This record gives sequence, structure tokens and C-alpha cells, in this order.
Amino acid sequence: MRAIVLGAGVAGLACAVDLAERGVAVEVLERGERLGNTSCSWYAGGMLAPWCEHESTEPLIAALGMESLEWWPARFAGTVRRGSLVVAHGRDAGELRQFARRTEHYQWLETDALAALEPDLAGRFSQALYFPEEGHLDPRAALAALADRLAALSVPIRFRVGVETSREAALAAEAEGSAVVDCRGLAARDALKDLRGVKGEMLVVRLPDLNLSRPIRVLHPRVPVYVVPRGDGHYMIGATMIESDQPTRITARSMLELLGAAYALHPAFAEAEIAEIGTGVRPAFPNNLPRVCRIGGTVYVNGLYRHGFLLAPALARRAAKEVLAPSHSEVTHEDSGQRRFA
Ligand SMILES: Cc1cc2nc3c(=O)[nH]c(=O)nc-3n(C[C@H](O)[C@H](O)[C@H](O)COP(=O)(O)OP(=O)(O)OC[C@H]3O[C@@H](n4cnc5c(N)ncnc54)[C@H](O)[C@@H]3O)c2cc1C
Repeated sequence: MRAIVLGAGVAGLACAVDLAERGVAVEVLERGERLGNTSCSWYAGGMLAPWCEHESTEPLIAALGMESLEWWPARFAGTVRRGSLVVAHGRDAGELRQFARRTEHYQWLETDALAALEPDLAGRFSQALYFPEEGHLDPRAALAALADRLAALSVPIRFRVGVETSREAALAAEAEGSAVVDCRGLAARDALKDLRGVKGEMLVVRLPDLNLSRPIRVLHPRVPVYVVPRGDGHYMIGATMIESDQPTRITARSMLELLGAAYALHPAFAEAEIAEIGTGVRPAFPNNLPRVCRIGGTVYVNGLYRHGFLLAPALARRAAKEVLAPSHSEVTHEDSGQRRFA
């Protein structure tokens, strides 16, 4: 069995790894020159947070996310399982209670327990929610690890493949009976008409004097923001959610809000060096749920929205099953020529 995977974002790489591990001869075609900023995946926070996401999403996201959490450590040794925290300042305590009411799998922490987990937050918050099962990873290192895994499985990633070339390669593969798995992110709007873009702005700062070891969300009625440790004194601060498919530069307002929230988490952020300002566009369907679907001979994996790293392994498993045994896949929905499996 042979398969072509279009796109080397987290969805494409996870699909290629899953298929190759099942013995399929895979080839990945990528438009960009390397793993990098042509993908939304490059700008992700890398939180693997099914229960924090459950606060504002359908139960499907937590179920797929828990499945994926088991997949990552075996493929990327840098996967961190130290849980994550949600905090709010006194005036926003109601936000924290509301967050807790909408999700599960957390513990309430008082000041001392929070200080035991994150000594640099000692005395800063009177309460926190701790989600011990959650994890995080550095998305760029994780993408590189998946590419290494593919190399070890003799799967080539061909870079700088033009749009026409990948279309022709997909048509040729379909014609010869090979599988095509389309993971082009937002670029797949030519086939998935209801796909839209949700712009996300992020910062990476260098602050070696602060030591935080797990992702921390700071609740605020207007701008909920999170900080993810990247190691080596670096932190990712994210992220805005703007209905736009344009990866335009960060606005002054977003910059103020992201930095203001980080400063509210810890005033040491005032002294941080800005190492990077980035913008990615998340591919999302109208219901913000992911979709694995077949149109003709191509299986599409898309709509990973703000959960790409959290969901890609579980979706890759469903895509691989559909590639290998189409008639046995469980169809969840069927409309306008699409058969859906997730
Ligand atoms: C600021 C920000 C923070 C985020 N934080 C998190 C987080 O903490 N946790 C989490 O799980 N998710 C997070 N996300 C969401 C996550 O980044 C996305 O869900 C995910 O990257 C989508 O992956 P994808 O592979 O579907 O698309 P992409 O990463 O966009 O990959 C698509 C790839 O297809 C390629 N391509 C396009 N056209 C072609 C073509 N014709 N031929 C070949 N290749 C082509 C592109 O170059 C690209 O490399 C965040 C997103 C943003 C923007």
C-alpha cells in the first residue's frame, strides 16, 4: 500500500508517522522550504490540555485529546507531563469558579500548594486549578522529532512542492489506486468550502530569572492568556483569537494585552526580552470541531482549530484506518459528497 500526504504541519506529520508505522509506503509533500512558518503549527503554544479545553469545547475534544496524550511521549521524548495551572487574580475569582464548573479532572490548590508546585508564584494567587493529567511540548522540536521518526521509517518529506505539482501528484496517486491524505490546513479551502481562518498572535520572550515549569492560564473576563515554558529561560505567551484568514502582523492592542496578562501573572515579565513575535492562522470549521472525511479518493484531516497538537495523533489514527479499510470506518456524518469519521 502506498500513500501521499499533503502538508507537513502537525496533522500531516502525525498522519504520515501513523501510516508508516502500519507498514504503508508514505511520501510527504510540503509547499514550504522546510518545516516552518508556512504552517500554523509553527506558532502553536504546544499545550496538551484536554481538560482545560473542555471548559469551552464539546466532549469530543477531551476524548480525542486524552487518546493523543498517550501517543506523544513515545514519538517525542521532549513531551512534558507535569500538568497545567489556571489562575485568576482576586477580582476575577468568579472566572476561576466558572471555569471549574465547566470542566473536570482538576484539583483546587490554595496558596501553599501552588507555591510547592511553582515556587516563583509563591504568594501571588490565593487559589488555582491544577490539571495533573495534562502536558505540553515545544511544537517546533516536536515537528522535528516527527520528521526524524519519518526519516527512520524511510519516509521522504519533499519540500518546495508547488501547488500545481501537489495537485497533480494527488491526482496521479488516486488514479493508480494509492491513498491521498490531505493535511494542507487552511489551503484545503479549495475542497473544504466551509473551512475558515482564526488568526492567533503570540510572543516568545526570554526571561531566565523566572522559573515556571508548566503552562499557566491567567483568566480575565476580556483577555484570557497563557504562558508556556519553552526551556532555556524562554516562554511562549499566547494567544489571540481573531476571525481572520490573514496572517498579518500583531496589532498594538494584542501586544499590550498579551504582555499585560503575562505581567499580571508575574511582574518579572516587565524585564523580559522579546525574542519573537508570530502570527498563525488556525484552520477551523464553523462548529470548531475537527473533521476526518473522504471526498472521492482523498481523505482530509482538517479543522484542528486551536487543538492541533492535542488532536493530531487521534485524528491520524482515524485517517489511517480509513485509508487501510475504507468500508470498515465508522461514518459519523454524511453530506454533500463528504463521508466523515470524526
Ligand atoms: C498562536 C497559536 C497557538 C496555538 N496553541 C496551540 C496549543 O497550545 N495546543 C494545540 O494543540 N494547538 C495549538 N494551536 C493550534 C495548532 O497550531 C493548529 O491546530 C495546527 O497547527 C493545525 O495544523 P495543520 O497541520 O492542520 O495545519 P498547518 O500547521 O497549517 O499545516 C498545513 C501545511 O500544509 C502545507 N501546504 C499548504 N498547501 C500545500 C500544498 N498545496 N502542497 C503541500 N503542502 C501544502 C503548509 O505549508 C503547511 O505546512 C495554536 C495555534 C496558534 C496560531
